[in-house]
Amino acid sequence: MSAASITTVTTTTTITSTSARLGMMLTDLRLPTIKRLAGDLCAQSDKEGWPAHQLLEALLEHEINERETRRIDRHRMESSLSPDKRLSSFDFAAVPRVSKAQVMALTEGTEWIDRGANVLLFGPPGVGKSHLVCALGHALIDSGRRVLFTRCSDLVQRLQAARRDLRLPQELAKLDRFDLLILDDLSYVRRDQAETSVLFELISERYERKSLAITANTPFSQWGEVFVEPAMTLAAVDRLVHHATILEMNVESYRRRAAQTSGKAKNKTNTGSGS
Ligand code: ADP
Ligand code: MG
Repeated sequence: MSAASITTVTTTTTITSTSARLGMMLTDLRLPTIKRLAGDLCAQSDKEGWPAHQLLEALLEHEINERETRRIDRHRMESSLSPDKRLSSFDFAAVPRVSKAQVMALTEGTEWIDRGANVLLFGPPGVGKSHLVCALGHALIDSGRRVLFTRCSDLVQRLQAARRDLRLPQELAKLDRFDLLILDDLSYVRRDQAETSVLFELISERYERKSLAITANTPFSQWGEVFVEPAMTLAAVDRLVHHATILEMNVESYRRRAAQTSGKAKNKTNTGSGS
């Protein structure tokens, strides 16, 4: 065996053991993206003669970007938002009283979230309240915020159970990690003292600190049916509206209109083919 071939064998062995060690270190440091890309990027760097800092920057940039993507994916998973209810599929023309610009402003400038301001959506069933509030939630997740979507009655039950077990403060504190808590269908909460008072505690706890988005079929004037005591109703409404964007969606049900439109279209087709 010639001297040259001995050198080659030694070098190859060194490189292999170094990259195995590198792989282990990257696993220890929890840098999976760098681990995955190191081989290719090092090869590219050698081939193109990158200065060392360029290689380091490229590797770290990939790790940071993927880490952010994974974080957002996790936030979306934990949010319980319907995946397909997005702004891109929301037809603003169907709700002329809702200003698209105002909704877009809520998704773009999120200082209202820092102030713990609220969003309240009112309207009869089927007008797109849940869709629009989910879309808002998705947009906030995209901008790095944490959101939880829950049916109001489910959350009230969960808080009630927590209170029975003397851990209501802990349960409320757990909800603090969400920048926006969406309570869908407030009007469906049963009129019952225990239920409504946990809801009131939640509203008071988050007041001016953490945002709430609430959808309701009934206007404030009928919230007396949700909160048993008039004083509690007043205090809850007062806190909620103090810093709030209110979206009134008093139109006909989107589903019903869609069904009517497709019905008319079918009739037209039928008439057309018949004539
Ligand atoms: P609500 O919460 O007011 O009862 P939803 O948000 O559940 O109404 O809307 C009912 C259905 O109609 C959903 O499938 C929703 O995606 C759709 N929808 C309602 N309004 C719109 C809209 N403006 N653009 C697109 N889809 C809509
Ligand atoms: Mg709804």
